Amino acid sequence: MKQYRYVIDYDCNLTEMIGAIRKLSEYRANKKAIMQIFEPDCNSESIQKDLDFITSALPEVAVFGMTGHGALSRETHSIPYKVCTILFFDSSDFQINVFDCTNISPLEAGEMYKPVLAQISDIQGVLMMSSDFALCPERFIDKINEFDPNIVVFGALAGTPSMGDDRSKIFYKNTIYERAIIAIAFYGKDLHLCHYYNLGFRPLGKELVVTKSNDTGIVYEINGKPAFDIYKDHLGIGMNQYFFENTCSFPLFLRENGHPLARVALDYHKDGALAFATEIPVGSSVSLSYSTADIMLDEASVAALKLDDFAPEAVLIYVCMSRRMLMGDNMAELEFEFFQNICDTATWGHGYGEILHADGLRGFLNASCVVIGMREGERPDEKDRIRKPPSQKYLKEYLDEHEDGFVPLPVRLVNFLESTTKDLRSAAEQLYKEATIDPLTQVYNRRALDSHMQTFLKQQKLYKSIAVVMIDIDHFKRVNDTYGHDMGDVVLSSVCNGVKNRFGEKDILGRWGGEEFIGIKPDLSIEEAKEFCESLRMQVASLSIEKVGSITISLGVTVMKPNDTPDSILKRIDGALYEAKETGRNKVVVR
Ligand code: GH3
Ligand code: MG
Ligand code: MG
Repeated sequence: MKQYRYVIDYDCNLTEMIGAIRKLSEYRANKKAIMQIFEPDCNSESIQKDLDFITSALPEVAVFGMTGHGALSRETHSIPYKVCTILFFDSSDFQINVFDCTNISPLEAGEMYKPVLAQISDIQGVLMMSSDFALCPERFIDKINEFDPNIVVFGALAGTPSMGDDRSKIFYKNTIYERAIIAIAFYGKDLHLCHYYNLGFRPLGKELVVTKSNDTGIVYEINGKPAFDIYKDHLGIGMNQYFFENTCSFPLFLRENGHPLARVALDYHKDGALAFATEIPVGSSVSLSYSTADIMLDEASVAALKLDDFAPEAVLIYVCMSRRMLMGDNMAELEFEFFQNICDTATWGHGYGEILHADGLRGFLNASCVVIGMREGERPDEKDRIRKPPSQKYLKEYLDEHEDGFVPLPVRLVNFLESTTKDLRSAAEQLYKEATIDPLTQVYNRRALDSHMQTFLKQQKLYKSIAVVMIDIDHFKRVNDTYGHDMGDVVLSSVCNGVKNRFGEKDILGRWGGEEFIGIKPDLSIEEAKEFCESLRMQVASLSIEKVGSITISLGVTVMKPNDTPDSILKRIDGALYEAKETGRNKVVVR
């Protein structure tokens, strides 16, 4: 594999690029080639002109690309260049599919893509781009994940120079698409891909909860207040033309499968809603976040070391412009240089969001730097590899800050905010724990169960069904009477510990009172819930508790119904439990 990069109107003009490519030995040898273009502005006419020119001059090359960010801040931290990269493959191949989403949803497009993927063997990764911010292409990625969760999906959402004026575009051959998804499957037994995701943003301040949002990226309310208030209250900013400049270095921070994620607000509505390029579901825990050039570069240098170990032949970088705004031009260049030093043809592009579906990341990212390394065949010999030393100019600026012990003011401020945030959060956590955890069994108390029940009732639609079970220890009074209250306590916590691990992260287990527990388990049908309860019953029956020996439990179980209230659910599980007791105990009754 071989990669070449041309920064147009910087390294050369388009005609010179064509001339240079035609002279390449890989081109002359007719190797399979693909070209990615990042266009800095969204003018259809000039893009069309470029595409017509390139595709007619290089008809064998598969040309695709997207519009980038263009000018961004008041200081116009923009990259006004077209960045073209061409990849030549020796043994591997690629297949390009475009889904025009004018009349179909990303979900439908994804459904159409699944049989396409099924025809391709040895897929190592899918490069994806999309245009139109309101498209929210995450559902397309979900479908690839459904097909095969191990396929790495990477790429970017097309950008536009001016906020609120979405002119983002993607293109393939000489067709421009205003609302579409392009997917390029790279495949081959010899092809290797590696991926890195750098964020660097750290959560600051209180954790808040999204209380009203929709699936096209609009967040109406956070903690029951207009979403805009999160910025008004914490940053003291108003609704004006500097909204993006004022907020983009403070993205919303959340976690997905344990991974830190940022969401940059693209725009606001007069009623206080915020527009994002992807869905932030109701119930998401969010806070503001901030970073420094130091934190970002530390992460980048670690990723670069790993990339070096992979020994890539090609490197594709998709990075958010908000990093450039935060780090400044020099440090942003250095972040790129870390990777470019390893593969000097590394190419980059800025869109409105980065894409990486891998390691539990669902796919859509903001404010991040996604790096993809590609290689055909085995890792080359160390002696055959060429690395460029980093340009001392930027590196010195970065290292100087580390060396002489002086910590710049913004870094000190972030450290201060971060440590204050940690203090606040651990105090809040302690309070929360005391208010919601039962001290004897260390599961939720009745108050917390009440609140979780309410939340699940409100979010019923998110799940196929939600099972609720009441567990009661049989003849527990006898334990107290025979072995004493302390032994009763031991039995209570042993039974609870015995079943605790059967309740996962999404599930809830709490002590309702005395020797009664309630469990809530989403995504279980009534039949599955019954089976689950039977296995709990048997598990407890097989326990051997010191002195007391074996113990049994009775269980009443139901699933939530659309018009349920906490009372109606309790009535059902209580009734079921009563029946279990009346008809012999050590059994499960379903209602
Ligand atoms: P059944 O099989 O019908 O459920 O009979 P049971 O004896 O388990 O139920 P009953 O409701 O008659 O008795 C529950 C007992 O649990 C009564 C109460 O003293 C005891 N209890 C409640 N809380 C605690 C506690 O925290 N520790 C101990 N050791 N006992 C408790
Ligand atoms: Mg009992
Ligand atoms: Mg009881």
